[in-house]
Amino acid sequence: LAKEDGKNQYKAYSSIRDIKTFKAFSIENSLHKAMGMEEFELYYQPKIDIHTNRIVGAEALIRWNHPVWDLVSPNEFITLAEDAGLIIPIGKWVKETACKQNKKWQEEGLNIVPIAVNISAKRFMQKEFVKNIEKILLENQLDTQYLEIEITETSLMENEELAVDVIHQLSDLGLKVSLDDFGTGYSALSYLKQFKVDTIKIDRAFIKEIGENKQDELVVKGIINLIQSLNINVIAEGVETEEQLRFLRDLKCNQVQGYLYSRPVKAAEFKELLKKGKIKINAQTSKLNKEI
Ligand code: C2E
Ligand code: MG
Ligand code: MG
Ligand code: MG
Repeated sequence: LAKEDGKNQYKAYSSIRDIKTFKAFSIENSLHKAMGMEEFELYYQPKIDIHTNRIVGAEALIRWNHPVWDLVSPNEFITLAEDAGLIIPIGKWVKETACKQNKKWQEEGLNIVPIAVNISAKRFMQKEFVKNIEKILLENQLDTQYLEIEITETSLMENEELAVDVIHQLSDLGLKVSLDDFGTGYSALSYLKQFKVDTIKIDRAFIKEIGENKQDELVVKGIINLIQSLNINVIAEGVETEEQLRFLRDLKCNQVQGYLYSRPVKAAEFKELLKKGKIKINAQTSKLNKEI
């Protein structure tokens, strides 16, 4: 009997693995078709000043409304897109859509904020990258201060000299640059001084443990102190509870992004948030946000 059980378990395991492989295969296949782009959508998540509850920025996050697999997470398809050689057109679509949208909000008289886009490591190091950004901004007549670039630590490590140069070019143009997922790479702290970024985003992995893990709390404290001593703006990612918020406030971390204030939302919904300009949290919404 035990043997049979084992066999069944193996069967179940193997079919889950098959489904995963099939899904990846199917996703990669349909990525090509999705290039018509109507299946992609940008969601926007507000960045908040915790003293005023004001929206100070937004991060654009890609969503793929896949006809078969429903909503596919970017974590599932960005790497596949890179491998399939599709990250350039997708990235272009993301930047164009974010800029067009922001320009539209501006024309509608809304108080617009910079919108940040995530840049794949591969893209960041390519020759035409900065030129293409310039072109998109020009075509949409959007002031450079309203587009922000988020890059990850790991993408800088691949070629430090080139990375320093690209960051300089972006800042010279007036764009803001953020270092994303900070703490998850092997952040030799000396790096921070040579990369002249405007903002560092502390990864959710550290924020998650606030209130639960004293050691992580100390790490967060150390990171915040360090960043601020370098006069770099700091933002905490993935803030979900009021306890985390209080902890960050005490450390003078002034900006946060996370479900506590808002999940990433569709453009129409973000427009409503922009109209108000502020997001108030209360026990009710923070509880709801967590449960969804
Ligand atoms: P990221 O740039 O670090 O984005 C933050 C991720 O954390 C987003 O996941 C966001 O929905 C999620 N998040 C925000 N607040 C909370 C919170 O309070 N709790 C939890 N549990 N999660 C929170 P998402 O949208 O699934 O994106 C995952 C990653 O995919 C992004 O990480 C980014 O690296 C990549 N990505 C997303 N959009 C794009 C894009 O347009 N281009 C490229 N190259 N990468 C993208
Ligand atoms: Mg990001
Ligand atoms: Mg991040
Ligand atoms: Mg991430």
